[in-house]
Amino acid sequence: MKTSYPSVLLIYTGGTIGMIENPDTGVLEAFNFNHLLKHVPELKKFNYQIVSYQFDPAIDSSDIEPSHWAKLVKIINHNYEKFDGFVILHGTDTMAYTASALSFMLENLSKPVILTGSQLPIGTLRTDGKENLITAIEIATTKNADGTAVVPEVCIFFENHLMRGNRTSKINSEDFNAFRSHNYPILARAGIHIKYEPDRIRKADPSKPLIPHYLFDTNVVILTLFPGISKDVVTAVLHAPKIRAVILKTYGTGNAPRKDWLINLLKEATERGIVIVNITQCSSGCIEMERYETGIQLLQAGVISGYDSTVESAITKLMYLLGHNYSQEEIRKKMYTDLAGEITFPAYHFR
Ligand code: ASP
Repeated sequence: MKTSYPSVLLIYTGGTIGMIENPDTGVLEAFNFNHLLKHVPELKKFNYQIVSYQFDPAIDSSDIEPSHWAKLVKIINHNYEKFDGFVILHGTDTMAYTASALSFMLENLSKPVILTGSQLPIGTLRTDGKENLITAIEIATTKNADGTAVVPEVCIFFENHLMRGNRTSKINSEDFNAFRSHNYPILARAGIHIKYEPDRIRKADPSKPLIPHYLFDTNVVILTLFPGISKDVVTAVLHAPKIRAVILKTYGTGNAPRKDWLINLLKEATERGIVIVNITQCSSGCIEMERYETGIQLLQAGVISGYDSTVESAITKLMYLLGHNYSQEEIRKKMYTDLAGEITFPAYHFR
C-alpha cells in the first residue's frame, strides 16, 4: 500500500459526521463509509491514498467504552507502518475522552492521530463535517522537509483549530466551535493556510518503536463538590465497592469546605490506598492547594494535585495507570509526571 502519495487511514467510529437523515423517519443513521467519496467529492482532488475502516456497528460516542479505545489502538498499531497518519471520525460527545485515552495508550507515537467530527451530518447543506474532515486529512499527512510528521501527536481538529487531544473539552452542544483547549494554546489554525505552531507541538523520536497499551481499570469516579454536599453521599462514593481512584472536583484553585467529616473521610480513603486527584471545577486554571487553608487541608489528607489537567485527561490517565497495576505510590508519582503533554507544571511546583 506504500505509495509516494500521502496515505491516511480513516477510521469511522460513528457520530454525527458520518450520518445521513433517513428521509422516512427523520432519524440520523450511520451511512456506509464506502460511499464517502459520493458525499465528499472534494477528496478526489487530493492525491491522497485514503483507506477507510468503519466500526460495525457505528456507535454514538455516548456508548464509547475502553474496549473501543483498545480496538482503535489495535487498528493503528497494526497499520502503523503503512500510513503517514490516522484520522478518526468520532462523535463529539466523548471525543475528548477518547483523544485523552489514546494519548496515553500510544507510547512513542511519531505519527499524527487526528480526531474530528461535526455538529451537522456530512450530507447536510450547512455541514461543518466536510471542512473538518478535509483539513484533518491534510494535517494527518503533512510532513517536515526531513520526512517526519509535523504533528506527531493525538489531536482534535475542530472548526479551524488543531488542539492537543488530552487538553481539549467539548464546551458547546450547538455551536460549530464546540471544543476548547483552555490550558494549552492551539497547535495550528486553519485559515487560507494551515498555520502550525512548532514550538507548541510535542517532539517525537521516530527511531523509538510505537508501544501500544490496552489495559484499563474503570474502578474510578468523579465526585463534584457543591455547597451542602452531604456526608452520606461522600461516604457512599468513597466506600463504593472496588473503588480505586477518585477525581475530586473542587472550587477555584483546589478548595473544599472546612468540614472535619469531609477531611477525615478523604484521609481515611487515601490511607486505604484510594488515589484522590484534585481537579478544579473552573474550566481553566490550575490547582494550587497551598494557596488557601481550604486547599491545604486536602493536601494534608493525602489528596494529590491534578494541576491544570482536564477531567477527561485525568480520569483516563487514572484508568490507564490503574489498569497497569502500578502501586498507589507509583500512580501518585505518575500523576505528577507529564506523560503525553497533559499537564503543565505551574511555577509554584518548582519553588
Ligand atoms: N451524540 C453524537 C455522538 O457523540 C453527537 C455527535 O456526533 O456530535 O456520537
